[in-house]
Amino acid sequence: MAITVVGSIAYDSIETPVGRRERCLGGAATYFSLAASYFCDVRVIAVVGDDFGSEQEAVFAARNIDMRGIEHTAGKSFFWEGSYLDNLNEAKTHTTELNVFATFNPKIPNAYRDSELLFLANIDPVLQKRVRDQMPQVKLVAGDTMNYWIKDHRAALYEVLKGLDVLLINDTEARMLAGNSNLVQAARAVMALGPRLLVVKHGEYGATLFHESTPKSKSAERTFRAPALPLEQVVDPTGAGDSFAGGFVGYLASQPELTPGAFRRAMFYGSVMGSFAVERFGTERLQQLSRAEIDARFHLFRELTHLD
Ligand code: AMP
Repeated sequence: MAITVVGSIAYDSIETPVGRRERCLGGAATYFSLAASYFCDVRVIAVVGDDFGSEQEAVFAARNIDMRGIEHTAGKSFFWEGSYLDNLNEAKTHTTELNVFATFNPKIPNAYRDSELLFLANIDPVLQKRVRDQMPQVKLVAGDTMNYWIKDHRAALYEVLKGLDVLLINDTEARMLAGNSNLVQAARAVMALGPRLLVVKHGEYGATLFHESTPKSKSAERTFRAPALPLEQVVDPTGAGDSFAGGFVGYLASQPELTPGAFRRAMFYGSVMGSFAVERFGTERLQQLSRAEIDARFHLFRELTHLD
């Protein structure tokens, strides 16, 4: 199955306890695409400025990612600057410049229309909705967002949530979106807005999958927890969430059926891709993985939680 993804392609300036990098290739769609490309065909919809050239294109081309939906326009690409000096689990945003995304009107190439899965990566919910509306035939729609959009674009975000099967967000965002500090209650409130499945990411502590509950379902049927790999050094947490989403949705796309077991294994593949992403700055590590390395780490994750 193929995935179409819409989201930011960006330049990021990042500061972590390990060091600083200026204007490295980033963006939610970039991390997502690279991670998912190890599992299935990926097609991207985004806009870039004239500062995006052959060197950046080569990163997508090397992973066979379809770039026909990347529009090139005059101006500067999306720019984000953040740091993780106090807390490696949460970025502190210093600058967000939408630049060419401020006037973007996404168009879906005909070649993308038979995609079975759609991922609405982090970007203005108005753009997410426009892409969702143009792809009514997809089998599964998953999406992401962040505090930036929850804070000031709530009404538009609610429209996106209505059309989602799966929402992936981090725990602070889930609590912020629901206005409730209890995670289980917050999850229920978020699912009432649309998605029937919710993946809440807890940074270095793993991720929880919440299923829509029925009056009879037991707590163990409603939730599933995947760990994160305890790493000795986290070089750069940027993109961990998007890489988790790429592993999660990418793995689902590689499965013949979307069974409850497939969703649970997808949680582990999400954690695997997130753990690789943070080992180097920017997209460096995600660019040079192999499927064998990915599967070996998946087995490591299984051992981490195996009882007998
Ligand atoms: P994460 O996986 O949450 O660490 O996502 C990091 C990526 O999100 C960075 O590469 C940024 O370029 C991108 N990003 C940051 N803020 C926004 C925003 N408001 N909208 C879309 N993408 C963003």
